[in-house]
Amino acid sequence: MSEHLCNVRLFTGREITAPTTLSMDGGVITAIGERITDPAARITDVGGAVALPGLIDSHLHLYRRRDLETLADFGVTTAVDMASWPPERTNALRRQRHCATFLSAGVPFIGPAGPHAKFDMPAYATVTDPAEVPAGVERRLADGSDFIKIVLEAPGDGGPAPEIADAVVVAAHEKGARVVAHTAAHGAVETALRAGVDVITHLPMDEPVDAELAARLADAGTLSIPTMTMMKVMSVVPGRRYATAAESLRALRAAGIPVLAGTDSINVPRTPVNIRLGHNLHHELELLVEAGWSPLEALLAATEVPAEHWGLPDRGRLRPGARADILLCGDDPLADISRTRDVRGVYVLGERVV
Ligand SMILES: [Zn+2]
Repeated sequence: MSEHLCNVRLFTGREITAPTTLSMDGGVITAIGERITDPAARITDVGGAVALPGLIDSHLHLYRRRDLETLADFGVTTAVDMASWPPERTNALRRQRHCATFLSAGVPFIGPAGPHAKFDMPAYATVTDPAEVPAGVERRLADGSDFIKIVLEAPGDGGPAPEIADAVVVAAHEKGARVVAHTAAHGAVETALRAGVDVITHLPMDEPVDAELAARLADAGTLSIPTMTMMKVMSVVPGRRYATAAESLRALRAAGIPVLAGTDSINVPRTPVNIRLGHNLHHELELLVEAGWSPLEALLAATEVPAEHWGLPDRGRLRPGARADILLCGDDPLADISRTRDVRGVYVLGERVV
């Protein structure tokens, strides 16, 4: 049975339209602005609410089904899990319905002694011999990883050696998989750039990315998931300044590097910090605006831009043929980004879940 939202204003990726009709059937958007001819159609007048494509959080961590439901409660219908284990639990989450869907890094590559070595990961997360990297990449992809994650630290801080980073990129690219590097230190960004990773996540809080480094990242085609939400949380640690991360963010923006909104939200037993899922993607958009983004650019960082860069052409934009993953909010977020928090309804594959 077809379902139609009428009296709905649509975010097109450029503007908010006048009230129109959005039609859905079989989990996809079938038409926009067309007359309803199906006599059995279900029609909902949403009273002028604004429909956004379901939001995409490009950096978080999943643990249980409830996490995926919580994300959907906040209109986040696609997630990118930046490390979780064991693979059996992560893969069981892939079979859940009526909640957010996700891509996952699975088990990351980490160094022998960095802060991430304390997180109880499987032993094979740590690789110190570059010769063992190709088998490690193959194992992860066989276990379901959608891309490869490596946790880089400042030189001398116990992270993977630069040769490991180089080998991870070569092995992953050989298999057609992208590489995301955790880079919360300036030296880690240099290691990531040298290795040729596709995406850097977090920003240095010790020394900012300057215009010269940003230009080299742009030349290399590197993407950024800055996780300003996490940078705010980490700024309580002595020597780590939010202002440094914000300065790096402005340099990346000036260099034209695509930025994907991500939060590093996590609700896993025994982690040092608990960062609320769903809620914080709205906070991340506000932090981007605070850093100089327009509300439009912030919204694109959680819709079109990640859909394009994660290879998800069926989402990120409301158009016929796209998944009917929709966030209905009360009023125009282009005038005030905090309005994305005013969730009036959420659809996943055309089914109302909120
Ligand atoms: Zn993370």
